[in-house]
Amino acid sequence: MRAARATRARPQGRPRSALNHRERSRMGLAGRPMPRATPDLAVSRRRLAYRDVRTCRRPAWSWFDRRMTNWADLRDAYGSAEKVPAMLVAAEESGVELGPAWDAAWSHLCHQGTVYSASYEAIPLLADICSRLPMRGYMPGLQLAGSILASIYGPVSPTEVRATFATAISRLRDIAESALPLAEGDPEFTYALETLAAFEDLGVWQRTLSYLADGEAPLICDPCGAELLLQLDESPPKVATWNAGDGKRDVVGMEPTHGTAEARLWGLADTHGRAAVAESLRFYFGSSTCPACGNELSIPEAFA
Ligand SMILES: [Zn+2]
Repeated sequence: MRAARATRARPQGRPRSALNHRERSRMGLAGRPMPRATPDLAVSRRRLAYRDVRTCRRPAWSWFDRRMTNWADLRDAYGSAEKVPAMLVAAEESGVELGPAWDAAWSHLCHQGTVYSASYEAIPLLADICSRLPMRGYMPGLQLAGSILASIYGPVSPTEVRATFATAISRLRDIAESALPLAEGDPEFTYALETLAAFEDLGVWQRTLSYLADGEAPLICDPCGAELLLQLDESPPKVATWNAGDGKRDVVGMEPTHGTAEARLWGLADTHGRAAVAESLRFYFGSSTCPACGNELSIPEAFA
């Protein structure tokens, strides 16, 4: 799996600014599409006031004292995970905006999409943290927990992880569902939907919905091996190769079948009044033709 991924290098010449969210995450560059550049003074004051109340009622270290996990025996991206508890405390104290403390937690626990033994142990702690922090449409701890669960690059099978941490995942799911209507704009809603998809284990979508917010997604044609690009900003969306001479092919949309993961996602977008997201999802669930070999291409089966 890793070898296969390593051979799928990004085509040369694509500007760094064109990195999609998944690639930015893997490179430790981002957790959300457009980080807010300037802290809002009022928000900072509210957060400080909130932190005072929270500290009086429930010290941030209390969960660490309760748990018997020997973090020094666990691994994160850089070796021993002994610093992870302090890192998560710092992340919680930094609040719900993405910043250096959450970047550090992300880098240690979900490094370029790979997870480690400490990442799994962090899931219940992230559930505790998210339940204590003020709810937002985007919460770095919630997205980190979702990305850990959605990862297929880790030492334990995702099925086993989900069974072990079922209670914490259920709590995270409830928070993610409540956070969905608070999303500011379609891109943030799409990221929040991907996070909810991770807690509900909605197949490939828990790893690929954020591409929708980026406007493009990398695909691979299985029969011919061509690297393709799904261009979601076009109307209708198109599939192209990296060779302009191959031309582009239209994507044909699909109505999701009742009871499927696709229907769940489309229904959430519709329920929350996200008409543009719901329309994009129809194409995301759809099909096209490989411009290189002419074979039919199912978009959900072709994500790189
Ligand atoms: Zn092909």
